[in-house]
Amino acid sequence: MDISRRAQKLEPSVTLAASAKANALKAEGKDVLSLTVGEPDFTTPKNIQQAAIQAIESGKASYYTPSAGIKELREAVVTHIERYYQLNYEAKNVIVTDGAKFALYLLFQAVLNPKDEVIIPVPYWVSYGEQVKLAEGVPVFISCAQENKFKVTVEQLEKARTEKTKLLILNSPSNPTGMIYSQEELREIGEWAVLNDILIVSDDIYGRLVYNGATFTPIATLSQAIQKQTIIINGVSKSYAMTGWRIGYAVGDETIISAMNDIASQSTSNPTAVSQYAAIEALVGEQDTVETMRQAFEARLNEIYPLFAALPGFKLEKPHGAFYLFPNIKETLLMCGYTDVTKWVDDLLAEAQVALVTGAGFGAPENVRISYATDLETLKEAAKRIEKFIETKT
Ligand code: PLP
Repeated sequence: MDISRRAQKLEPSVTLAASAKANALKAEGKDVLSLTVGEPDFTTPKNIQQAAIQAIESGKASYYTPSAGIKELREAVVTHIERYYQLNYEAKNVIVTDGAKFALYLLFQAVLNPKDEVIIPVPYWVSYGEQVKLAEGVPVFISCAQENKFKVTVEQLEKARTEKTKLLILNSPSNPTGMIYSQEELREIGEWAVLNDILIVSDDIYGRLVYNGATFTPIATLSQAIQKQTIIINGVSKSYAMTGWRIGYAVGDETIISAMNDIASQSTSNPTAVSQYAAIEALVGEQDTVETMRQAFEARLNEIYPLFAALPGFKLEKPHGAFYLFPNIKETLLMCGYTDVTKWVDDLLAEAQVALVTGAGFGAPENVRISYATDLETLKEAAKRIEKFIETKT
């Protein structure tokens, strides 16, 4: 039987594909260094694990939950947002979802009509455009120059705007670039969105992973009007080393949250109960481990950035957040006699056993994404192998 046109048009996630390929080679016994995955290499903090164990043993994790998540967790999200954003919401403004990825999916399904346009600055996280297409929306990509630190400007937004523009997706700190928008830049963008009645999707998932004195400003905090115009997307995966637990959330306008909830109720029913109890402890329990992990990422970034920035042909600015480097390697490709970054990445894996993700899936075909959410030894050895690989090709 033919599969649907919708499924045929879908690009599978390049990051998941790259890490699956690296893992398959590892399983064959190959000494592969994988810098592909976007997940912390730490295990979930003990207090969070204990909360989950307790929820299982008490029996309360045995049952379906409300589709928007248990009230205690939605209230924990409200408390968390009050503490870190100084913004007031109520539980009815929150939906808990199976990861932030599904919060985005539900949002697009809930607000987009066929042909509605969604502005997505490039480079972008791999799933935005594909999820918009699944909702029959039209992704409108705006190319953001590396010279402008990969940030979109209001002039570019205004140029891309049409009467069909419904949403703008912002992701700061960004996956894949690690850049952070300043308060002033965000204020300008926020005011433009309010003026033109464009809903801001603020993907804040890396908000607590910022380094070397940089600050994360959530756009929703910049004025009441901007707050009303924003849906906050966040989750526990990155800050609490909980990628496997699959808990994310969306916060914002009650009508939109309620429409997302209706779709969730007819698709997943609810996020896994035990993970919800663990997430309460993550959001309102002891926060020291978040800072310990943040410091570990910062120390790694400071140590490995010079190694990768010095690789022949790598054009790379030091990122301020998340856990990725995103060098432009156009010159490296030329030196090595390649025209295609994907082929270079494939050969690097086959010949030097280093797995990176091609920038093509992020809309930047001259770049590669290097995740430093792995131990220092692996990162240093990977830099050495990449250097040797380039030498053998030139
Ligand atoms: N948004 C961005 C920018 C991400 O990088 C990711 C994960 O890689 C997500 C959202 C989704 O996170 P999760 O579904 O694990 O909560």
